[in-house]
Amino acid sequence: MSKEISTPVRTKEILEKYGFKFKKSLGQNFLIDSNILTKIVDQAKLTPESGAIEIGPGIGALTEKLAKQANKVVAFEIDQRLLPILEDTLSPYPHVNVRHTDVLEANVHQVIEEEFEKGQDLMVVANLPYYVTTPILMKLLEEKLPVRGIVVMIQKEVAERIAASPGSKNYGSLSLAVQYYAEARTALTVPKTVFVPQPNVDSSVLHLELRSEPPVDLHSEKYFFEVIRASFGQRRKTLMNNLQNNLLGKDKKPAIEEVLEETEIDGRRRGETLSMEEFAKLSNAFYSRFNS
Ligand code: SAM
Repeated sequence: MSKEISTPVRTKEILEKYGFKFKKSLGQNFLIDSNILTKIVDQAKLTPESGAIEIGPGIGALTEKLAKQANKVVAFEIDQRLLPILEDTLSPYPHVNVRHTDVLEANVHQVIEEEFEKGQDLMVVANLPYYVTTPILMKLLEEKLPVRGIVVMIQKEVAERIAASPGSKNYGSLSLAVQYYAEARTALTVPKTVFVPQPNVDSSVLHLELRSEPPVDLHSEKYFFEVIRASFGQRRKTLMNNLQNNLLGKDKKPAIEEVLEETEIDGRRRGETLSMEEFAKLSNAFYSRFNS
C-alpha cells in the first residue's frame, strides 16, 4: 500500500512525476499534513452512509481522507492538468468521482441528484481556493443545497469575519449573509507551513451547520440584505447616516426617523452593533413602508 497522498514525500513524488507547476491564479496551495487533514474531515462527522462533496481536490490529499470515511465523494476541479493525476492517485477509490468544472458555473443541485441517493446525508468539505472563497460559499448557501453542512479551510481573517458576533470589529455584512443560512464557528487555526507552496496568510477551518429554518421572518430576503449592505456602507457612520446615504435618500430623513422610533432602534448606533433580529425588524418595517 503506498503512502498517503498528503505526506510531503509522496506529494513531491506526484508533483515531480507529472512535472506539475502550481497556478497561483487558481489558488493552488496543497495540504501536506495528514493530521490537519484528519482534523478537517473529523469536523464533518461523516458516517459510512454519508456523501461528501469537495471543491478543488488538487492532487487528492483531502479527497483520499474523505474517501476512507464516506460512501461516495464527488469533487469539482477546474484545472484540466490535475485530472490525469487524480485518476492515478485516486485509483484505489472507485467511489470517488471527479468532475472537471468550475464550481461557480456548476449546477450543483443537478450533480447532487445525479450522484447521490435522495435524502442521503451530505457534507461539503474543502480546502478552498482563497481567491474565490466568498463567491463559492455564498453560491453554496444561496442555492439552498440539500446538505447538512460545510467544512472549509479558508483564510483566517475571512473565517473570523464570517463567524463574528454583533459588536465585534470583524462583524459585518458577510457575517450576517452567512449566518442567515448557517450556524458558523471557526474550528481550528492552521499555520502556513502545512501547505505547498506556502500562502501569505494563515488559515482557519470554518464549520457551517446549515439551518433547516431561517433564523428570522422576513418580508423580503433581498431587501433585508440591501438594508444590511447599506448599514455597513461607511463603517464609521451612524445607522441613520448610512440608511439615508446608501438606501433611501436624504429626503426620507423624517420617515427613517419614524421607522427607527417604531422599531426602537437608536439611529445613532452603528451597523456593527445590530443583531440579525434587529436588522430583520428594521428591514421589515422599511419594506412595509416603502415597498408595498
Ligand atoms: N484539496 C487540495 C488540498 O487540500 O491539497 C487542493 C486545495 S487548493 C487550495 C484549491 C484547489 O481548487 C486547486 O486544486 C484548484 O485548481 C481548485 N480550484 C480553483 N478554482 C476552482 C473553481 N472555481 N472550481 C473548482 N476548483 C477550483
